[in-house]
Amino acid sequence: MEKQPLETEQDFKKQMEIEQQQIRLRMGRIKHKILVLSGKGGVGKSTVAVNLAASLAINNKKVGLLDIDIHGPSIPKILNLEDKKLVAFDDTIMPVPVSANLAVMSIGFMLKDQDDPVIWRGPMKYQVIKQFLRDVEWSNLDYLIVDSPPGTGDEPLSIAQLIEKPDGAIIVTTPQQLAITDVRKAVSFCRQLDIPVIGVIENMSGFVCPQCGHNTDIFKSGGGEDMAIEMNVPFLGRIPIDPQIVSACDSGEPYIQRYSQSQAAKAFNEAIKPILALDKSVFEKTNSFQKGDHKMRVAIPVNDGKLCQHFGHCETFAVIDTEGDATKPFKRQDVTPPPHEPGVLPKWLHEMGVNVIIAGGMGQRAKQLFDQNQIEVVIGAPVDTPENLVSAYLNKTLQTGDNTCDH
Ligand code: ADP
Repeated sequence: MEKQPLETEQDFKKQMEIEQQQIRLRMGRIKHKILVLSGKGGVGKSTVAVNLAASLAINNKKVGLLDIDIHGPSIPKILNLEDKKLVAFDDTIMPVPVSANLAVMSIGFMLKDQDDPVIWRGPMKYQVIKQFLRDVEWSNLDYLIVDSPPGTGDEPLSIAQLIEKPDGAIIVTTPQQLAITDVRKAVSFCRQLDIPVIGVIENMSGFVCPQCGHNTDIFKSGGGEDMAIEMNVPFLGRIPIDPQIVSACDSGEPYIQRYSQSQAAKAFNEAIKPILALDKSVFEKTNSFQKGDHKMRVAIPVNDGKLCQHFGHCETFAVIDTEGDATKPFKRQDVTPPPHEPGVLPKWLHEMGVNVIIAGGMGQRAKQLFDQNQIEVVIGAPVDTPENLVSAYLNKTLQTGDNTCDH
């Protein structure tokens, strides 16, 4: 029987929601997602994306590099991975490893011939971008660096919307006036979508003589920096033209690693500093928290002053320090948890030195994660004040019932 239009629309919406949820789950395992954008092509956006990713990997971060520059997927070329074949298991595609800390996925791996032009219409591009975000098995990453298509059209928009909350964008430009005009558009694009601009990089800024190391300004440099000041966004530095950036592609080793002492490599290493700063531990971000001197630290999810049964959605956590004796005074601090994403709360509480969590309900997976973080879990506690719950726990009189929320 043919479906009624309303039903079809509802089915479609439902399907979209399911897919978005799948993307959310995948992205939830990645701590920081960063878009690399440029106003136009040919400014070195992919080169910058590769070298930033490689630099983060050298700094012991687990990094994924995703190339969704559909019309010019150059990352396989830059890393000399053009012969690589993709491996897939069921519905997941494995990214191509470059080093222990860096793996890559590119639309280029899916083309029969890397030089084939990709002629796709809008909806097809959207589908392939969605597939990359949903089906690639990145596992747990510190950073996902996304090499976006140039410009501020449909594709960067799709990525920004599908990722939902990218940590920020790096905008790559060259010093010429024409490129800089395009950067203004890229900054406005980020502002409209509420994506923080991590900073602007001015690439091909001056030429470093391979013989004497002298830097000559071929085009007038500094335009990117002036623009960054004018638009009130950070300037991350200038990368000079270095012919070795082009020749490094043949070796397959990222330029920054192969020519680590070059001026351009040093500039890349400077440029990643604000990105590395994003990865401060969640505990450090809870900066007013006192470490203290105590025997036991108990955390209780709280709403309206009493235990909140859905621990992942509580307003605050009461963190109570005790000497292990209910007759001695407790010391309590209330802290706001980071946004609820799988795996974040156990690590956050562990970093604060919590040994026990008293909860109303908890899913199996969350329980396992607390176990892995050496936090004892008490499930099925009644709605009561944190102090009463801790007293009862220490006196071994805490009445626990059913797991009130086991998903
Ligand atoms: P985009 O992604 O913006 O289209 P690419 O990263 O593919 O640009 O770079 C275009 C070309 O410029 C490539 O051949 C690349 O090797 C070269 N290139 C990029 N940055 C530099 C640089 N700083 N010095 C020398 N060559 C560069």
